[in-house]
Amino acid sequence: MPYTVSKLTDFSPAALDAAVRELLSALEEESEAVVCEQQMEPYENPWKAFRDRWMARKNGILTQLNDLWLKAAPGPSKKDVGQRVNELRKTVEGMVEVAQKRLLFAKAVPTEVIHPGIEVPADELEAYAKRVALASQRVDITLPGIRRPIGAEHPVIKTMNEMIAVFRNLGFSVEEGPEVETDFYNFEALNFPPNHPARDTQDTLFIAGQESKPPRDRLLLRTHTSPVQIRTMQKMKPPVRVVCPGKVHRNDALDATHSPIFHQIEGLAVDTNITFCDLKGTLDHAMKAMFGSNVKTRFYPSFFPFTEPSADVQISCIFCDGKGVRDGAPCRNCKASGWIELLGCGMVDPNVYGFVDYDASKYSGFAFGMGVERIAILKYGVDDIQLFFSGDVRFLEQFG
Ligand SMILES: [Zn+2]
Repeated sequence: MPYTVSKLTDFSPAALDAAVRELLSALEEESEAVVCEQQMEPYENPWKAFRDRWMARKNGILTQLNDLWLKAAPGPSKKDVGQRVNELRKTVEGMVEVAQKRLLFAKAVPTEVIHPGIEVPADELEAYAKRVALASQRVDITLPGIRRPIGAEHPVIKTMNEMIAVFRNLGFSVEEGPEVETDFYNFEALNFPPNHPARDTQDTLFIAGQESKPPRDRLLLRTHTSPVQIRTMQKMKPPVRVVCPGKVHRNDALDATHSPIFHQIEGLAVDTNITFCDLKGTLDHAMKAMFGSNVKTRFYPSFFPFTEPSADVQISCIFCDGKGVRDGAPCRNCKASGWIELLGCGMVDPNVYGFVDYDASKYSGFAFGMGVERIAILKYGVDDIQLFFSGDVRFLEQFG
């Protein structure tokens, strides 16, 4: 009959001694059997069975000792039983290890060598010992290795940081603000009055259930990072030079060039004597720093509620060097025009200063804004904005 862990009812030291003796003699016997058995069997299997019978986490004998002896022990005996079970655990682990070593040795040494009665020369024994040592250290080089993938900056974050660095070098600091904004910061203070048609074009995502609040306090997901400009002007007096990077939300359907979530960087400079020339010089420098010194910029009239005058900025096409033709065919990236539209800008509308307590007769300033994904798409030749948000490692690791 193979050994089974007995349920204890008597926890006196004498009864425990007897139970431990019974277990140890079974352990001894089984470990001998394993070593003998291997002479006939493939050596791993009896040893593995031996190991699992004693050490398996689920139903091994050591686990049963915990359940049947330790947990069942009454309070005063717990410490004594615990010590004995711990001792037994060490002994079992040791025996299992020894059995494995003995098997390795037996495997490395021919049967006739360990056969009693045959004398083996010392140098031969030493050679066997070396083989045993080598066998126990054997590493299976055919096993797949452990891969530790190295992370990389996401292309959108990378582009954003590059752009921030360009403006930092021009003396701009970085400001951030909340993504959930009030109507006041996202629209009203930026000179979009209620019912202004420009609000329709923004496809705003509003937070539900706020009908009881006054309109300007209602919450929405910001549609641009411009609210940060207002918050900045509220907390500091000119001179102000900040860039505001961040995530924005619009109720746009997902396609190759639109995403309901994207990133923007906006900039704001307010001081005495700031003119449109400063705006042109700043953006021309920034575009050259980002896309190369050969890039040209051009400004043409546009409309934004918070700037007056306003302009869209185009850069000469970086794919066809502004020629409109590439490899003898019309350039697809600029639709053969030689120009790519990249950002919006303008002089801050004096009405905006009214919302932040700046003296419009004393100060002037400019603001600009651009989409980070749009720039990353141009820089890296990505053809679908969705790739940035799909989390596909095959795409992302190209930027590592
Ligand atoms: Zn082109």
